[in-house]
Amino acid sequence: MRVPELLAAITGAGISLEVDGNHLRVRGRASRLTDEIRSELVRLKPVLLDVLPRLAGMRIHTEPVPTAKSAREAPGGPGRCFSCGDGHDHPHAYGRCVWCALALDCYYVTLHASGTVMVVGDKDLTAVAQ
Ligand SMILES: [Zn+2]
Repeated sequence: MRVPELLAAITGAGISLEVDGNHLRVRGRASRLTDEIRSELVRLKPVLLDVLPRLAGMRIHTEPVPTAKSAREAPGGPGRCFSCGDGHDHPHAYGRCVWCALALDCYYVTLHASGTVMVVGDKDLTAVAQ
């Protein structure tokens, strides 16, 4: 199972995850977590510790158009992720870092799994999330 599918399954069960230091905190009815999801949480924990804070950042930037940017004041530009501001491995690289790219996948997958309808102006952007 990939991280986006794992988070979609968790979101669909009405559960959310938060990072607290080096721990994952489950919010909601943990009894809804299957054995498969629990084992995937353990296996993917190192990735989730990097992705979940970025996903949380993307969820708070909703005005005027959802930007899915994990840090509002990220400097971006060559050598830096324009979403979180972390440095790329190459000084001339441009775009999102691997963690923000994965968080963006999770952003749209969990948006769809939660049943959220994203409307900007008169356009329903929910189809983008599918
Ligand atoms: Zn980034």
